[in-house]
Amino acid sequence: MERFPDESEARRLMVDIGRRLYERGLISATDGNMSCKLDRDRFIVTPSGLCKGFMSEDSLIVVDGEGRVLEGSKKPSSEIRLHLLAYSLREDIGAVLHAHPPIITAITLAKLPFDSAILPELWVSLGPVPVAPYATPSTEELPEAVKPFISNHNAIILERHGSLTLASDLEKAFFMLEKLEQAALIFALSILLSGGRIPPPLSTLELARLAQVFQITVSS
Ligand code: 13P
Ligand code: ZN
Repeated sequence: MERFPDESEARRLMVDIGRRLYERGLISATDGNMSCKLDRDRFIVTPSGLCKGFMSEDSLIVVDGEGRVLEGSKKPSSEIRLHLLAYSLREDIGAVLHAHPPIITAITLAKLPFDSAILPELWVSLGPVPVAPYATPSTEELPEAVKPFISNHNAIILERHGSLTLASDLEKAFFMLEKLEQAALIFALSILLSGGRIPPPLSTLELARLAQVFQITVSS
């Protein structure tokens, strides 16, 4: 991640993604948060406890790698430690997005085994999507629970809570979340329409073919 975004462009995009998250029902009320890397030691993050669907560019906070506020008058997200952990473990990411998508979260409550390998393009885009065990939101427990998955995954489901997507920029992190929630809807519909049968993943052979066609390396 050596190309950093222009700060005013990053602020505009963050406000826009907040609106899209809210309109798409991927967050409600004051749920969710996001951040974006401005340079090696500066990150823009959403303010805590506000509706991210109606933010203004000057309500965003700039923090350093320790979470110290450099710019902005509001409190940074209560999940800032989770965001900073992701940046410290992944040099390649430039944006972190945490949302509360309802269908994938309901799937964790129902304890259904969601597998991204049920849909070819989902698996190609997101790779395997693990479920991080439940941890109290906004505490140090959450980064601890998610830490084992960060190095090898760009999309992580948070049990009873929501999602975390990691990407080079916020738009990509948003698209990954959209794909995940759309796939969760398809998974749930498939179970309902088939009278409770869990749809099987694509075979190992089909996954190997996809990996070859789309030239991806696969982590587990
Ligand atoms: P913040 O408003 O503090 O970012 O919290 C929202 C959230 O979803 C906590 O998990
Ligand atoms: Zn949350």
